[in-house]
Amino acid sequence: MEKRIAVLPGDGIGKEVTNGAVAVLNAIGERFNHQFHFSYGKIGGNAVDTDGTPLPDETIKLCKESDAVLLGAVGGPKWDRIEVKLRPEQGLLKIRKELELYANLRPTNYYRSLADSSPLRKEIIEGIDILMVRELTGGIYFGTPRERTQRDGEDGALDTLYYSRREIERVVRTAFELASTRNKKVTSVDKANVLESSRLWREVAEEIAKEFPEVKLEHMLVDNAAMQIIKNPKQFDVVVTENMFGDILSDEASVLTGSLGMQPSASISESGPYLYEPIHGSAPDIEGQNLANPIGAILSAAMMIRVSFGLTKEADAIEAAVNHVLDCGYRTADIAGAGTDVKKVSTTEMIEEIKAAILDTEALLKIQNCYS
Ligand code: NAD
Repeated sequence: MEKRIAVLPGDGIGKEVTNGAVAVLNAIGERFNHQFHFSYGKIGGNAVDTDGTPLPDETIKLCKESDAVLLGAVGGPKWDRIEVKLRPEQGLLKIRKELELYANLRPTNYYRSLADSSPLRKEIIEGIDILMVRELTGGIYFGTPRERTQRDGEDGALDTLYYSRREIERVVRTAFELASTRNKKVTSVDKANVLESSRLWREVAEEIAKEFPEVKLEHMLVDNAAMQIIKNPKQFDVVVTENMFGDILSDEASVLTGSLGMQPSASISESGPYLYEPIHGSAPDIEGQNLANPIGAILSAAMMIRVSFGLTKEADAIEAAVNHVLDCGYRTADIAGAGTDVKKVSTTEMIEEIKAAILDTEALLKIQNCYS
């Protein structure tokens, strides 16, 4: 198989972790005989510095001409005080709009060897397998009008929360399609006791559910969902929700298994290309120190080859290699904990261990048997 991948490292540790994902994809190419062609583009603060915009047109063109996009992270204190339209995060919002990435998928899985890094007790998180599906291009982050305004002679500000029936339908249908390949349960999260947009959301979810009789639909108010994720996360399979609720709940879910640095994500559109990125930010506090955990980016590459390229056994190989390396005790600083039998490694050493597990045929076979 031959595929073109646009790589947008972005700022801070973005470059260090995307280097890891590219190295692992090259190992997969070598091991399974595929050719991945990587082209690099700018996004975020570094693009502001060189091109005067957080998302240059040539980056948009590169992404649209590629089969998939791999992104690192954007932002940093250097750009915190510049005018809003030049902020690195605007590059992220714009690429989502340009590629029409209407849903963000974030898995949260249990890693046996990292159980002690979770803020929750082992018996609460053991075996969790949650897929959070967040609507990404609508809702209050994009609604207009959005402005500073005045009412009754008083200063105020206005944001708009709007969803069309079509926007809700496509993301809820995606959630049901995914649930039908998993544990066949969708939890639709809303605030239907207060918000009109949530009442429409609930109505549409009920309609879509009729297309998937084998999948159970449950509605949950967002405040209760925030509590249930901590209290009993094992009850969830696929969770679907609107943009702002999903932003908050998916970060909450991501810490169940320990570090932010472990979590991948995929953002999908109706026609592709899809965008894959670790969920963490640019981590300016550890930038350039070879300390970043590259696993979130590496698992994002696994999601890419599974979802966009249909390379199931290759994606399984990456995930098994990651599990194996963790089980062998290799840890970057963020997941090292206080254990005595851990082998503390740098970003580049962690990447080398994962690559080695993929390239060593015998080891890979053993690992795959062990984790399949
Ligand atoms: P962050 O995710 O960058 O960092 C939070 C904490 O987690 C830090 O202590 C950091 O060192 C640690 N961390 C994050 N990723 C790690 C990894 N892979 N390995 C080890 N440790 C890791 O969030 P923040 O500090 O709130 O934001 C920093 C910058 O990143 C800001 O400019 C913010 O706007 C931006 N940001 C970007 C994205 C994105 O690009 N998608 C997401 C969130 C934040």
